[in-house]
Amino acid sequence: MKPELLREFAKLLQVANGKKIAVIGHMRPDGDCVASQFAMAEILRNAGAEVVCVNQNKVPYLYKNFVEEELIDSDSFADFSYEALIVDCADLSRASARLKNSYENVFACVDHHASGNSQAQIKVIDIEAGATAEIIALCVIGLDLKISPMVANLLFMGIATDTRQFTTTSTRAETLDAAKGMMLRGADANFVAQQLYQRERIAKMRLLSVYLDSLKMYSNNRICFGFIPLGTFEKTGSCKEDTDGLVDYARSIEGVEIAVTLEELADGSVKGSMRGKKPEYRVNEIAETFGGGGHFAAAGFTAKNKTFETIIPELLELCEKSLK
Ligand code: 5GP
Ligand code: MN
Repeated sequence: MKPELLREFAKLLQVANGKKIAVIGHMRPDGDCVASQFAMAEILRNAGAEVVCVNQNKVPYLYKNFVEEELIDSDSFADFSYEALIVDCADLSRASARLKNSYENVFACVDHHASGNSQAQIKVIDIEAGATAEIIALCVIGLDLKISPMVANLLFMGIATDTRQFTTTSTRAETLDAAKGMMLRGADANFVAQQLYQRERIAKMRLLSVYLDSLKMYSNNRICFGFIPLGTFEKTGSCKEDTDGLVDYARSIEGVEIAVTLEELADGSVKGSMRGKKPEYRVNEIAETFGGGGHFAAAGFTAKNKTFETIIPELLELCEKSLK
């Protein structure tokens, strides 16, 4: 871990003493986001801050047994005397439109995304880290902070999910150092696996089945798109959070270099989730042209006033360009 990041984190804890801090994560939180929010909450409380965890959405089903609190709904959160600390995204616009409009400035940011330009006063940002939870874990280890076994488990889970079980191109030796450090502090790898991979709901499997049926191949089978039209959640009994991970099935096909999941939203926009087999494809740059962002090999966007029909040719052209 870079010494300047450790210094920034130490400074963050020092100035947090006596402050009221809202730890805010991106909408539709994934495992890394949930882990980072609740881990930061405990660490900041130990440092003497009064902390709440705020998100536009609730803790997803798969992560429920890792936490004791629920996330506070960003649409009802109104006490802006809490300063904003954002995790796992660079900007409040990824958290909620309401929070973006309500906060004039961001107190601190802990993140690992390549996209986005953080305006935070204190930045603990490392775009080479496999997960935001990895950055936090390395700071816990480097500064020898006390954390509960619950937080050790959370951080292990955040690292494991964001690196697809330690296999993404973003996985580095320090990723495993971070995981080891969390195991030494009480994380249980098998508990994490039982929670994440042995308790799927049948509705999610039905969604997966519809999704796999929708896959379409383009550009000599090097690009694969999957579709979630309006009404799919009702039809299968599933919900939005069940879409997490679907795009990985499209990318897993031999020969597919870029995979995209497109979801039709009720407000006339299309949500895209993109994966590249190689970081060189820079899918984050493609996502940025639709107002989104992310990492070199995993990115997303929500494009307003689009339909599948209008967005497919635009996206295909950009994907083909980046494969060249
Ligand atoms: P996913 O496809 O799993 O939803 O997201 C993949 C990555 O892209 C995540 O790191 C996520 O934070 C980022 N991402 C997804 N949607 C958006 C978006 O609308 N805007 C930005 N800036 N990043 C996104
Ligand atoms: Mn992350």
